[in-house]
Amino acid sequence: AAKSAGRSAFAFYTPQLNSAAVERLHLEAALRRALERGEIEVHFQPKVDRDGRPVSVEALARWDSAELGAIPPAKFIPIAEDTGLIEPLTEHVLRTACREAAGWAGAGLPPIGVAVNLSPRLLRGAALVERVAAALAASGLPAHRLELEITEGSLMGTGAETLERLNALKALGVRLAVDDFGTGYSSLSYLRRLPLDVLKVDQSFVTGAVRGSDQAILARAIISIGRELGLTVVAEGVESKAQWRLLHEAGCHEFQGYLFSRPLSAGDFAGWLRERTGTGAGGRRSVTRST
Ligand code: C2E
Ligand code: MG
Ligand code: MG
Ligand code: MG
Repeated sequence: AAKSAGRSAFAFYTPQLNSAAVERLHLEAALRRALERGEIEVHFQPKVDRDGRPVSVEALARWDSAELGAIPPAKFIPIAEDTGLIEPLTEHVLRTACREAAGWAGAGLPPIGVAVNLSPRLLRGAALVERVAAALAASGLPAHRLELEITEGSLMGTGAETLERLNALKALGVRLAVDDFGTGYSSLSYLRRLPLDVLKVDQSFVTGAVRGSDQAILARAIISIGRELGLTVVAEGVESKAQWRLLHEAGCHEFQGYLFSRPLSAGDFAGWLRERTGTGAGGRRSVTRST
């Protein structure tokens, strides 16, 4: 009996491991098909400046699977990262984002920037710079209107190759943002070392930013670090006026969150932008393809 203790403990975990592994394989296969069928959509969430004017949007991947229903990015992005599907997925998001952003300006809406999230894995591949250049060329979007968001975690401990790649992206004229700032155990020195333009304060500091709270103190400190370094500071996940006021007083430059808008389809965003800016009143329906 004693000899089987180890084995039975192992046997106890095996079925669970198997079902998790099977679900993952299932999702991987479904994601592969979804990419082939064009089932992955891109939604856009606006960012506004200190006066509430829309300045740019963040492109966010959306998967509403015919078989499995809506699957959140928190579930499918890690699978895409592990399997290499992140490459075609990012290519799709990048091309769609550039095309839509160029299209809004072409339709008489104010020129607006667009941000695309980049996975750590892509920073390690050599093809990234060419892909970004190709997406810009294909869409006609001016490079300065494209921003690439890279999570803090993937920027830390970057070697010479990654730095070279980031410099090459900068040389194209695109803007670079550090995403989810404050969540890693980071040494702050990389903020100086890397060619960054934008610092996005992680949602966790914004969510708890109640006057007098520790989160508010940290949010203020992060905002002043960003400002001192000459970066554009963006707060993500702003849901209430109280949060907005506090961050605004702390000198935050831009704001993104449900208080302003949830992520919208390309067509809905064009409508939102038109209403906000009072442009193109005659052509409400004809600007972008509805998704
Ligand atoms: P992120 O880049 O930090 O994006 C912000 C997330 O916060 C989005 O979640 C957005 O919908 C959500 N959000 C925005 N405002 C609010 C708010 O006021 N309250 C709350 N509670 N949430 C808010 P989403 O779309 O589920 O994406 C989650 C993460 O998945 C993203 O975090 C990003 O890391 C990743 N992701 C999404 N699309 C892509 C993509 O195309 N490529 C890559 N590599 N990652 C992506
Ligand atoms: Mg982001
Ligand atoms: Mg973020
Ligand atoms: Mg985040």
